[in-house]
Amino acid sequence: MNFDLTPEQEQLRDAVRALGRRYGHRYFVEKAKAGEHTTELWHEAGRLGYLGVSIPTEYGGGGGGITELALVCEELAAAGCPLLLLVVSPAIAATVITRHGTDEQRKRYLPGLADGSQKIVFAITEPEAGSNFHRLGTVARRDGDDWLLSGRKCYISGVDEAGHVLVVARTEDAASGKLKPALFVVPTDAPGLTWSKLDMEILSPENQFLLYLDDVRLPADALVGQSLDAGLPALFSGLNPERITVAAMGAGTGRYAIERASEYTASRKVWGGRSIGSHQGVSHPLAHAAVQVELARLMIYKAASLYDAGRDLEAGVAGNMAKYATGEAAALAVDTAVQVHGGAGMTTEYGVATLLGAVRAGRIAPVSREMILNFVAQHVLGQDKSY
Ligand SMILES: Cc1cc2nc3c(=O)[nH]c(=O)nc-3n(C[C@H](O)[C@H](O)[C@H](O)COP(=O)(O)OP(=O)(O)OC[C@H]3O[C@@H](n4cnc5c(N)ncnc54)[C@H](O)[C@@H]3O)c2cc1C
Repeated sequence: MNFDLTPEQEQLRDAVRALGRRYGHRYFVEKAKAGEHTTELWHEAGRLGYLGVSIPTEYGGGGGGITELALVCEELAAAGCPLLLLVVSPAIAATVITRHGTDEQRKRYLPGLADGSQKIVFAITEPEAGSNFHRLGTVARRDGDDWLLSGRKCYISGVDEAGHVLVVARTEDAASGKLKPALFVVPTDAPGLTWSKLDMEILSPENQFLLYLDDVRLPADALVGQSLDAGLPALFSGLNPERITVAAMGAGTGRYAIERASEYTASRKVWGGRSIGSHQGVSHPLAHAAVQVELARLMIYKAASLYDAGRDLEAGVAGNMAKYATGEAAALAVDTAVQVHGGAGMTTEYGVATLLGAVRAGRIAPVSREMILNFVAQHVLGQDKSY
């Protein structure tokens, strides 16, 4: 058993950390408050090869795995820049296309995803279906060689900054009964595709949208893979990278909050010469949060190494557990960091309350803590399904 990163992974981690620190949380907050995107950081990360670490080298990527991408997500978040679109574009979209796209689709999309010049976002959630994906109502109909897509999606992150959106639909002949999903790469400027911004209580430079598809006409080759049979495995192939990278982002955010809080409590003195951190009522909650984040990190990198070893089923269990653990640990870490800052914790200047919305959302999306507990109860503990 070995818990060490390879020298190349350490190098990557240190380089991403340096990049993240150069931008920092203040940059992230300023962009979010101005209603702008972190475009400079995204492009620089792309140019340096960090967005494409897990994309095969023949398509311009680094040829690494999800472990490398998790390191990128964690280190940027640990510098105060938790970029949700890392989870959507390089983790989900690039994995789905690499593993299930046609040669032509790989050549068309992967180089742009690798260098950051292109983003592909991901649309599965629907207002009526919610966590129950079997109820997806977005339908794909054949019209000659073309496809026509109609339906509604919600909470779709980053549509406004992406060239394409990977839409999960069901085919007309499978409109009722068990879901047989079909995935389509839809250009965001396709006629019939519109969106409206959702007002969210999350301070983030990345936004969520309602998406409307009204007979969006697509050529045959917009379907991911050679045939409709690719749909289900393609959808599942995106889930493990999604859970692992979102967990890594949460762990980085937790580390960031604990670091800010530790600096503050070590220097703040309100009772004579002692720091407030010398009081165990302050230091123990912080230490407890640090333990929770570190435990979650162990599960993240276990899940990532299982995934990179091709052990998808075991990675599914570990990835779900990592996502659950990190969602809880990151929310605890940020809340504790705010508390030990006192009033300063609620200011923008100290840069911790700015993350409250994001970590709260991390217990809901991309899969809620309850749905993970359902998964563990059924698949690990052998319990019957209640729904
Ligand atoms: C910030 C953010 C970004 C997002 N980005 C994207 C994106 O880019 N693309 C995308 O497709 N989606 C995105 N989502 C959507 C996200 O994946 C969903 O919100 C999430 O899957 C939960 O679905 P829901 O909101 O419909 O909740 P619901 O399914 O309505 O659930 C509501 C509550 O009931 C609980 N619940 C439901 N069913 C059960 C059950 N059987 N047992 C126990 N509890 C249950 C849930 O856990 C939850 O607490 C995003 C969401 C957020 C908040």
